[in-house]
Amino acid sequence: MDMDLKAIEQMVEQVLREIQSEQLISTGEQKAETYGLFSTMDEAIEASEKAQKKLLFTSMADRQKYVDVIRKTVLNKENLELISRMAVEETEIGHYEHKLIKNRLAAEKTPGTEDLVSEAVTGDNGLTLIEYCPFGVIGAITPTTNPTETIINNSISMIAGGNTVIFSPHPRAKKVSTLLVKMLNKALKEAGAPSDLISMVEEPSLENTEKMISNPKVRLLVATGGPSIVKKVLSSGKKAIGAGAGNPPVVVDETADIKKAAKDIIDGCSFDNNVPCIAEKEVFAVDSICDHLIQYMKENGAYLLTDKQQIEELKALVTTEKGGPKTSFVGKSAGYIMEKLGVKVPDSIRAIIMEVPKDDLFVQEEMMMPILPIVRVADVDTAIEYALEAEHGNRHTAIMHSQNVEKLSKMAKILETTIFVKNAPSYAGIGAGGEGHTTFTIAGPTGEGLTSARSFCRKRKCVLSDAFSIR
Ligand code: NAD
Repeated sequence: MDMDLKAIEQMVEQVLREIQSEQLISTGEQKAETYGLFSTMDEAIEASEKAQKKLLFTSMADRQKYVDVIRKTVLNKENLELISRMAVEETEIGHYEHKLIKNRLAAEKTPGTEDLVSEAVTGDNGLTLIEYCPFGVIGAITPTTNPTETIINNSISMIAGGNTVIFSPHPRAKKVSTLLVKMLNKALKEAGAPSDLISMVEEPSLENTEKMISNPKVRLLVATGGPSIVKKVLSSGKKAIGAGAGNPPVVVDETADIKKAAKDIIDGCSFDNNVPCIAEKEVFAVDSICDHLIQYMKENGAYLLTDKQQIEELKALVTTEKGGPKTSFVGKSAGYIMEKLGVKVPDSIRAIIMEVPKDDLFVQEEMMMPILPIVRVADVDTAIEYALEAEHGNRHTAIMHSQNVEKLSKMAKILETTIFVKNAPSYAGIGAGGEGHTTFTIAGPTGEGLTSARSFCRKRKCVLSDAFSIR
């Protein structure tokens, strides 16, 4: 009986503490638990710097514990469903079930502290250690297309590396980013971590991002987004990692398993309504198999447009006068797009396909909607040449369906993409149905590639002269 009373007493105390801290947040009172949320960028940076100093003196086991807390918090069914639903509702981009998969993938397959493998050099002059050490405070800019996935993925990698992180999300993903940052901080705090390992300002804006970029206390910038933000961080004068746009081409040659290729391509291209930067954006298919490929694509949920005028109407509907994708159509479903075009299609339709010439706007632009143009070519070499052109030197992602090892190697070599997927959907390249870890920050322009904890670290050397070589 005594035990029960004690337990009840403790529970009441805990609830009172929680209520009190919630009230302090809402009244904005000083010294309130902020859970990583700040009204100004300067406050966020100050708190992040303090938190990083504390993190630096925690053990590697503690860092790994914080990583595990992030994983567990995101993988909690209620939390996972909430952030996935909110991301779709707020940004009006993507597909709920696919957001669940992506958030789960980020939580489960982003490497933790095990990624930081130290090097040791020993010899007559003693022992030298080379270790991955933190940069300090990192400023991370996240995209509307993967708002929560990027926060989960970057937080795990950056904290494992001993850094703290300030997120600058797209204003259109403000609510879900705020919720996630608060949720993670709360869980970290409960696990005994320093406050504000992850932070953001309550009102994300371009102006606040500028402040973050220019503040000298922010030691490393990481931009996951389109060309404008990547260019901005790269011209900041400080160390920056740029994970920029892609326009992944798919090549299918006559040696491929055409039935499987068709299914893989539609699965990849329709995943999260085509917003992932790695998703199949255009296909170059060899003439001799092109009809079969299209037929199998139709059997896998593709809706084929053949009327040239209707294709032009679709283009007018979903692109701006400048020729880019209309924001209001980015990440929308094939059914939604077709309905706006005036055609009701069954729910089973996942992608809209059409044959177009290689210079077509749908081929050359990164559309980020389930519209997949197909270019018929005479042979595989022409397909590879056109794929190179359509990829625009992003060196991001490319996919090939073929059994011809020589041509597979040729395409991999010529396109020089960070990710090259053979005979699978594009998402195999980020660990979904393919080996290797997951990342949502694929840094092609600056060369880190598939980022992980070590990408956000400095290599430092520690030399002990004339001792500790025990051979
Ligand atoms: P976006 O470039 O419009 O925005 C990305 C982020 O940058 C947002 O937080 C936005 O607020 C900010 N931003 C953009 N321009 C800015 C400026 N001039 N000053 C300050 N902040 C600025 O991109 P998006 O639509 O959110 O995301 C889609 C793009 O991101 C696509 O091009 C996609 O390929 C790319 N992407 C790349 C990766 C990768 O790992 N390489 C991952 C996801 C998305």
